[in-house]
Amino acid sequence: MSFDFAARVERVEPSATLAISNKASELEADGVDVVDLSVGEPDFPTPENIVEAGKDAMDAGHTGYTPSNGIPDLRAAIAEKLRNDGIDAVSEEVIVTPGGKQALYETFQTLIDDGDEVVLLDPAWVSYEAMAKLSGGSLSRVDLAPYDFQLEPALDDLSEAVSDDTELLVVNSPSNPTGAVYSDAALEGVRDLAVEHDVTVISDEIYQEITYGVEPTSLGSLDGMSDRTVTINGFSKAYSMTGWRLGYVHAPESLISQAAKLHSHSVSCAVNFVQHAGLEAIENTDEAVVEMRDAFRERRDMLADLFEEHGVDVPIGDGAFYMMLPVDDDDQEWCAGAIEDAHVATVPGSAFGSPGYARISYAASEERLREAVERLAEHDYI
Ligand code: PMP
Ligand code: GLU
Repeated sequence: MSFDFAARVERVEPSATLAISNKASELEADGVDVVDLSVGEPDFPTPENIVEAGKDAMDAGHTGYTPSNGIPDLRAAIAEKLRNDGIDAVSEEVIVTPGGKQALYETFQTLIDDGDEVVLLDPAWVSYEAMAKLSGGSLSRVDLAPYDFQLEPALDDLSEAVSDDTELLVVNSPSNPTGAVYSDAALEGVRDLAVEHDVTVISDEIYQEITYGVEPTSLGSLDGMSDRTVTINGFSKAYSMTGWRLGYVHAPESLISQAAKLHSHSVSCAVNFVQHAGLEAIENTDEAVVEMRDAFRERRDMLADLFEEHGVDVPIGDGAFYMMLPVDDDDQEWCAGAIEDAHVATVPGSAFGSPGYARISYAASEERLREAVERLAEHDYI
């Protein structure tokens, strides 16, 4: 039988980040040694205390459904964490989700109707575009590439893109895929535009714990932003918990009560014992977070030096674990070639709205990063 698929699904492509990582896994299954710098996933094991807390929670019988929006202790701990970031938060304004991705998905579905305008800052993480399209939104994009991926020098461009017709603006600092951490002046510029044009802003802070020598500001902590900011965060990156699937959304209660309907009708709740592990992560995992952050910083510096030795100047950011390597105009062909010939997996910049770059995730060992650069050089990709 031929199915009559819904237009919203036909509008989007599969996630490019996950598609390339799948391709790398396929090659590996055929015995090829691939240096996989495609998917953004910390390569450290989940810290022991978190794993133990998850096991203990299972042993204690925390295996049934939880309240749909999350267990009270975790919601309270999240609200407290947000208050420490300067956001005026209470538990009732938090939904605990299976991953930050679900938190974003619920936000888009809650706010965006057919034709509503969503503004993205390019390069933008692949799933924002897909989520906007799935909810029927129309996209307007502001290119940060001419400004070394910084937002502050692009504020004039942003002010051209944002108008009274704009429903939603998505800000992701530290940024995937550039690693850029936006300055306070940049965020204040966003605030001024959002207030002037009555725009809701998603602040995706999933890389908040991974910054190098700078303190990221939470957009929702700025004057005028508390009633128009949706803060997204999660446990995948900070605590190396990608497979546990745990994240959250914080927003004014009026928005949360609408999103909660979607949440209850789709996922019901995040996994019970995972939520208990998440509580342990928030309360007791500072040291491991610092260790991972220090390791990422060393890798970033080493990788930038290696590229420089090969005459490639890569703009590096102060956060996350990504960098955008300038490549040929046809970045898709470059990435396809790099994986086939050099067996190095990266993601084309065009998947993020910025052709001419390949995104590298440096969440890999120094040895593998060195190997990647050697292979790319050997096969004339740099
Ligand atoms: N936001 C950004 C910018 C990301 O890179 C990711 C990566 N997966 C997510 C949200 C969602 O992560 P998760 O669903 O694993 O919490
Ligand atoms: N966010 C990570 C990345 O960009 C994980 C994969 C995904 O969810 O897209 O690679």
